[in-house]
Order: sequence, then C-alpha cells, then structure tokens
Amino acid sequence: SPIILWFRRDLRLRDYPALTAAVRSGRPIVPVFILDDQVQALGAAPKWRLGLGLEAFAKALDQIGSNLILRRGTALRVLKDLIHETGAGAVFWSRAYDPKAINRDKHIKASLNEQGIEVRSFAGHLLFEPWTIATKAGQPFRVFTPMWRSVSGRDVAMPEPTPARIAKPDLWPASDRLSDWNLDRDMQRGATIVRPFVRPGEAAALDQLDRFLENIDHYQEARDRLDQVGTSDLSEYLSLGEIGPRTIWHRVQNADRTGSRGGEAFLRQLVWREFAYHLMYHWPHLLTDNWKPEWDAFPWNTDPDTPEVRAWKLARTGVPLVDAGLRQMYVTGRMHNRARMIVASYLTKHLMTHWKIGADWFAECLIDWDPAANAMGWQWVAGCGPDAAPYFRIFNPETQRERFDPHSTYLKRWIAEGRSDPSPTARAYFSAIPRSWGLSHEDSYGAPVVGLKEGRIRALDAYETRKVPV
Ligand code: FAD
Repeated sequence: SPIILWFRRDLRLRDYPALTAAVRSGRPIVPVFILDDQVQALGAAPKWRLGLGLEAFAKALDQIGSNLILRRGTALRVLKDLIHETGAGAVFWSRAYDPKAINRDKHIKASLNEQGIEVRSFAGHLLFEPWTIATKAGQPFRVFTPMWRSVSGRDVAMPEPTPARIAKPDLWPASDRLSDWNLDRDMQRGATIVRPFVRPGEAAALDQLDRFLENIDHYQEARDRLDQVGTSDLSEYLSLGEIGPRTIWHRVQNADRTGSRGGEAFLRQLVWREFAYHLMYHWPHLLTDNWKPEWDAFPWNTDPDTPEVRAWKLARTGVPLVDAGLRQMYVTGRMHNRARMIVASYLTKHLMTHWKIGADWFAECLIDWDPAANAMGWQWVAGCGPDAAPYFRIFNPETQRERFDPHSTYLKRWIAEGRSDPSPTARAYFSAIPRSWGLSHEDSYGAPVVGLKEGRIRALDAYETRKVPV
C-alpha cells in the first residue's frame, strides 16, 4: 500500500531521510502538503515565500515522475481522507520542533496508530536532534560555546542523494490548485518589489551554496560588514527546508581544505541555528515569554501602537541605520544580521519596547522567518534570553555605522530622503510598503523619535532601578 509523505517546512528531495526511507520501501508514494491552521497563521512575507517554494517543489517532483497533492483543512482530517482515498498504510514526515507542531504531530500519530496506520517521523531539519546533545552533567545547553565545542568535531551523516524516480500510486487523489490558496494575499504590493530578490527552490539553494563557497575564505572578515555581500543568504532556504543542513555541513568541510578560518566561522553560525532549535525544544517558552522570568518585572512598553513603535515599523525612526535595516527588509524580505541586531537594540532599549513586539513584526515581514532563530535573536539582543548580550550593551547606531558601513554604502542603498538622486533600492521602499502608510521619498527626514543619548540613559536608568540580573 502507498506511503503518504507529508511535507511541511522541508521542500526538498536531496538530504531528506523521510523520502529516502519511503523510496527504499519500494512502495508508491503520495507527497502531500496541507494548508492547516499552523500554515494559515504564518505572517504575510513567509506565507508568500512558502507559495513560491511550493510552486518550485511541485515542479521538482514532477521531474521525477511524482506530484504534489495540496489539501486544505485540519491535518488529521486531511490525512485520514487521503488514507481512505489512496489505501495508504503509512504516513511519513520529517520532524518539526516548535511546540505547536510537536503537539499536533503527537496527536496525529496516536490517532492514526489507533487505526492501524504506521506513522514514522524522521530527522532532517537539523544536524543534531535536540535530545542527542547535552552538557557533561547531562543537561540541555544554555550557553552556546560549550555546545559548539561539543558538536564541532562530531560526525554528521552524509546526506542522501535525490532519488532518480519516485514510485507513484495507481491513482492520484484530487489536489487543490495552489493559486486558489492565495498565499500572496497579505503581501499586497510588496510582492512585486520583493520578487526579483528571491530565487525559490532547491536547485537555486544548491546554486546559492556553490556561489557562496567560492568566497567562504572571506566570510569571517566580511560577515559583519553591512556594505558587503559577505554572508551566504541561505537562511530562507534553510527556513523552508529547501536545503538541508547536512548538505551544507559537508560541502563546507570539503571546500575549506585551504585552512582558512572562513569555513569554521560559518559552521559556527550554522550551529547557532542548532542552538536556537535546541533551546526552543527544551524551553518552548523561548517563543512567547522572557526566557529569564526575572525580566517580567522590567518596565517594557507592551503597546504595539505607540507613535515611537509605529515610527519603527514604518522605518521612520529618524535614526538612519535603524531605518535602513528595516527598509532592506521591506524591499528584499531579508535583513543583514548586524542590522537585525541594531534595529532590535533600538526597539528594546532606546524605545524600551518588549522584544515580542519586534519578533512578531519580523514574523510578518521576513521571508526567512524561523521561529527559533527569530525568538532567540530577539531575546539575545533584549538581554532576557539564554547566553544573551547584557542589557547594558546598547548598540550605538552611529558607531556601528563607522565600523560596519564606513563609506555609508548601506545607508545610501536604503535611505532616499534628502538625496537628489536616490538609489533605485532606496526608492523601492516607498513602492514596497502599503499605500496606507502614506509615505513618499520626497518627505523630509525627521529627527530621531528618541535620541540616541537620551534613549540610552533612559534604558540604563530603568535597568539600574530594576537591577535585573544579567
Ligand atoms: P550566514 O551568516 O550566511 O549564516 C548561515 C546560516 O546560519 C544562516 O542562514 C542561518 O540559518 C544560520 N545563522 C546565522 N546566524 C544565526 C543566528 N544568529 N541565529 C540563528 N541562526 C543563525 N535567522 C533566521 O533564519 N530567521 C529569523 O527569523 C531570524 N530572526 C532574527 C532576529 C534577530 C533580532 C536577530 C538578531 C537575528 C535573527 N536571525 C534569524 C539570525 C540571522 O540574522 C540570520 O540567520 C542571518 O542574517 C541570515 O543570513 P545568512 O543566511 O546570509 O547568514
């Protein structure tokens, strides 16, 4: 009988143990993607990007004689219907690690097992399953560096190749049309602006990795530079599973035989992603609450609609580097890691606003949105997360610009106001944002909503008064 292979955030054929196991069984395979409430709940940009990913993935399946069945509804209901329609005796999937997905999957597994259906979940999204790594005392890691030391010398299994063919069922069950799902609905006019910056799909992901490997020697020096293309831009592919981390791990190790430090520095960042998943798995409240509860007493602003927070969302704080980072996000769907830290620091410190407001906004706007990396990143900057930067470390956008954008290249790329001939990317911001924001590049650029010095003093005062432990 057929195997239903339920794809979630893992739209690839290579380096995919669930698929390898299904192919090895010799049974027909029914690949399916379900638009359930967890997919519906995605923010505008990641949902739109998912639609592009599904389109590319359906084509890739078609090329090896298969098909992607799209269905909408509660996942359990849809799977039961498909089992009924195809006579499938098994459901395979690749594990997800966020608490909602874990609950859903446990429930589905128990319920299908009761009906005599075999359910198997596989690794694939991570290099190291979160329960397979621990401190010497047998505890989950709360600090990154010991985790890195513990895993960096480990053997990582070789990724499986793309299967040449996937056996199909006698009859394909009916499928929704992707266009009827309207996954682009909430992106509004941003979709046409961001689209040229996106190359969806597994083939593009592998190509992106190859391109990056040519320059990996420079990664360590260039990764922090806002004015250079120094990083891999693989995050959206990893987030949607269009590339697997084991593929990256092995390709980097093979490419880095020259002895440069670039490869090691890069793999270290890849393990930050593992750290985020490790934390989310062991402490699911990472996604919703201050990881260190003593921060609950801190006088965060929790109103997402104050004029200051609105200015931040509009990319109109009057602090050029902060606005530049946010504009990069609206135009390309991504933001440089250093800019993410700078805009997050301004929101949580100068504007003393709860990190959750920023994290929710990123979940709406980033095409590489990842629940674990996003929550960890925000809690790290805000100071309330595990192994976080101390609260009193407040990024000064001016000094950051001097160090990481010394010729103002990044600023010129993203800020149009006050320039007689703004760059096309800077202009594009005004076309990417919703019309209802009512902004034009001819507007004058105001003074900071909260000055750098004044905001810093206010944040440090609040911190001193509360004496939140570091
Ligand atoms: P590279 O430098 O080429 O790194 C390679 C890969 O390693 C990345 O693709 C990513 O998967 C992983 N990685 C690198 N840095 C980190 C990190 N600090 N934490 C976790 N994983 C990392 N990353 C996301 O993928 N999705 C998010 O929603 C997200 N939100 C963030 C929010 C804040 C406030 C901060 C400070 C960071 C956030 N990050 C997020 C982490 C990081 O900024 C991005 O992974 C990185 O900018 C992606 O660019 P790249 O692929 O070129 O990175």
